[in-house]
Amino acid sequence: MTQPQIPAAKPIIGDEERAAVDRVLQSGMLAQGPEVAAFEQEFSEAVLGGRTCVAVNSGTSGLHLGLLAAGIGPGDEVIVPSFTFAATGNSVALTGATPVFADIELDTFGLDPVSVAAAVTDRTTAIMPVHLYGHPADMAGLQAVADSHGLRVFEDAAQAHGATLHGDPVGTFGDFAMFSLYPTKNMTSGEGGMVAVATEQIARTLRLLRTQGMDRPYENELVGFNARMTDVHAAIGRVQLAKLAGWTATRQANAAALTEGLAGIPGVVTPTVTPGATHVYHQYTIRLDGASGDERDAVVDRLREQGVGCGVYYPIPNHRLPSLASYAPDLQLPVTEQAAREVLSLPVHPSLTEADLERIITGVTGAVGSGT
Ligand SMILES: *Cc1c(COP(=O)(O)O)cnc(C)c1O
Repeated sequence: MTQPQIPAAKPIIGDEERAAVDRVLQSGMLAQGPEVAAFEQEFSEAVLGGRTCVAVNSGTSGLHLGLLAAGIGPGDEVIVPSFTFAATGNSVALTGATPVFADIELDTFGLDPVSVAAAVTDRTTAIMPVHLYGHPADMAGLQAVADSHGLRVFEDAAQAHGATLHGDPVGTFGDFAMFSLYPTKNMTSGEGGMVAVATEQIARTLRLLRTQGMDRPYENELVGFNARMTDVHAAIGRVQLAKLAGWTATRQANAAALTEGLAGIPGVVTPTVTPGATHVYHQYTIRLDGASGDERDAVVDRLREQGVGCGVYYPIPNHRLPSLASYAPDLQLPVTEQAAREVLSLPVHPSLTEADLERIITGVTGAVGSGT
């Protein structure tokens, strides 16, 4: 290999982020303070059309505390996809509720309303779709299922900062939504999560849960966590937020170039964007139609040998993970299984050059052609 590896993901940290951190360090006030408050306000305005936002120390905390603040707990069933990062189902399980896994649609990898409807029982209280890879789930279809069974809707928007559906931002469809700020996501604060909430009641409970159940000092109202974001992390997040729209446009342009370059390769299915949706391409995920997991993994290996970093998100469906399988004995989710065998995510991040994009296209053309 003569050329350097094109990384699968690349957080962009520059002088402005460093200066912002330095400003906070010099202030001497490191824990949650004015930077967090400003970040919440700015994120709300830039991404959520003004919906109230509450910052926490990770996306996973955001899901967990969001569910608790929404009143989810033992006895509840929450329907989630199995084809997602394990944090989705984990957060439900951590509340004492039961994650119930439903199947996805193959074109968008989002929860399938038909499968969700079939999974509803008399204990079901909510549906939590994931806007996987940055493409909105079918919120109209899912809301219709929710309405007909009296269910609540929450959103795992960890991968979908700025994605929209018929003009409405993801994160404004449910009672709460979580955006992850982990370094590989579309923007980062180092670690962190932002929770958008529909009601002041959920917002207040979420803020209490974030800080030991305290509103007034040492008058703890409920049993809570320390899940606060620090001002150091918020300062990074504020700088990144100002760059998000530009980065998203670059991701979309990179995706368009990949889709054009990969058109016509037999067996390669490029990402779909459903009518009315904007895709923010946290991942640019192709399917190798009809491939076995081993065949797909061989393509991944060949791409890496050529210096094209790529990833498989996610090779094992959540309902078959040792950690979560006990919630779903004998469950069959055929579309989820197919996606887990066939998907492969190519670099799409904003640091790619035109030469990188050409190398990715040439790499896939060669890797798929040679013997799957
Ligand atoms: C990243 C991610 C999470 C968890 O976010 P963290 O900030 O890493 O805790 C949850 N759900 C999905 C779909 C994710 O991609």
